[in-house]
Amino acid sequence: MTKPIILTGLRANNDLTLGNYFGGMLPIIDMAQQKSDEYQINMFIPDLHSFTTPIKHELLYSQIIQTAKLFAAAGLPLDNDSIYLYRQSYVPAHSELTWILDCFTYTGELARMTQFKDKSNLDESKLLLLKKEQNKLLTLSTSVGLYNYPVLMAADILLYGAKYVPVGDDQTQHLEFTRDIAERMNSKFGELFVVPEAVKKQHEFFGNDQGLRIMDLVDPTRKMSKSATSDKGVIFLSDTPDEAAKKIMGATTDDKAFVAYDPLEQPGISNLLQISALLSGKELEAVIEKHAGQERYGDFKKEVAEQVKSFLVHFQEQLKQVDEAAVMSKLESSEKAMNEQANATLYRVQQAVGLRPKA
Ligand code: ATP
Ligand code: MG
Repeated sequence: MTKPIILTGLRANNDLTLGNYFGGMLPIIDMAQQKSDEYQINMFIPDLHSFTTPIKHELLYSQIIQTAKLFAAAGLPLDNDSIYLYRQSYVPAHSELTWILDCFTYTGELARMTQFKDKSNLDESKLLLLKKEQNKLLTLSTSVGLYNYPVLMAADILLYGAKYVPVGDDQTQHLEFTRDIAERMNSKFGELFVVPEAVKKQHEFFGNDQGLRIMDLVDPTRKMSKSATSDKGVIFLSDTPDEAAKKIMGATTDDKAFVAYDPLEQPGISNLLQISALLSGKELEAVIEKHAGQERYGDFKKEVAEQVKSFLVHFQEQLKQVDEAAVMSKLESSEKAMNEQANATLYRVQQAVGLRPKA
C-alpha cells in the first residue's frame, strides 16, 4: 500500500528569485503533479537549515509561510493527498535523529564537504555586510550548524525512507553522505533505513535537464541567487513590477550592438533572451530568432522589461488570491501525517541504539 517516496526541500532564507521560480519551483511542482499517482511526494520547507548562515531572524517566520504560499501561487495543488507540504521544524524527529546520527558521523567526513568549505569562507563577507546593516556585533566564525548540516539533511531523507531526492550538483556530496551513514547504521544495527538511490540513478530518474541557470543581471557570469550580496542584479518575486523592470533596463550587456545568443561572448544579452523565453512561455530558439540582429539593446530590454512587469503583476495577483487558511491547513495536516511517519522511524532507531525497549 505504501508508495515509494520522493522528497524535496526549498530553503526559505530570503525572498525567492526569478531563478528559484523557473529553475526550482516550477519543475518541482510539475514533477509532483506527474508522479503523485505512483509516489508519495514529500515537499518540505527546511526551516532548520535556514540559519546555518546568518539571516534576519525577525523575518524568518513570515518567510516560511510566504514560501508555502508561493508554492500555492505557482500552482501546487493543495488538495492532492499524495503531496505533503510541511515545515521541518514542526516534525521534531528531524532534530532528534540528527543527534543520534551525529554520534555515528566522523568529524573528518563533515570537514571535507566542499559546500562547508565554500560557505564558511563566503560567510565572512556576508557577516560583515549583516554587521553593517544590523549594526550589531557578530562573531566572525563559522557555526557548528553549517558544519553539521549534512547530518540534518540525512535525517530529513532517512526518516521517511525516501528513495528519490532531486539534487543539484552542490548537494551531490551530501546525498553520498546520506547513503554512507544509512549503510553504516544498517550494518551496525540491522535494516533500519532505506538507502536512497545513488546520484547517477537520481539523475536518470529525474532526467538530466537541470541545465537552467538564470544569471545575475549585473554580473551575468554569476548565477542569480537569493543570497547575492547585491540586489541590483536579482529579480525577486516580491519586487514591485516597476522595480523589476528597472533592473532589466539596467542589466549589463556588451558593446557589440547586435542581439545574439552567445553565453560566452554576450552573457548579458543571452541571459535576457533566456529570461524573455521563460516569461513568454516560448521556446528559446524562437525568441533568439525573433530578436537576432536587433541593434538597439534599449528596445530589446524594454520588451523584456514589459514582460517581467506583466509576469509580476499577474503572479502577485495570484499570490494575493492564495487562501492562507487553506495553506495553513495543508501544512498542519501534512505535519500530522509526517510526524506519524517520522516518529515510527525514530522509534526504531531509538530501540536499536538502546534508548527504548526492544519489542
Ligand atoms: P542561495 O544563495 O541561498 O543558495 P539560491 O538562489 O541559489 O540561494 P537555492 O536555495 O540554492 O537558491 O536553490 C533553490 C532552487 O532554485 C534549486 O532548485 C536551484 O536549482 C534553483 N535555482 C537557484 N538559482 C537559480 C538560477 N539562477 N536559475 C535557475 N534555477 C535556480
Ligand atoms: Mg544556491
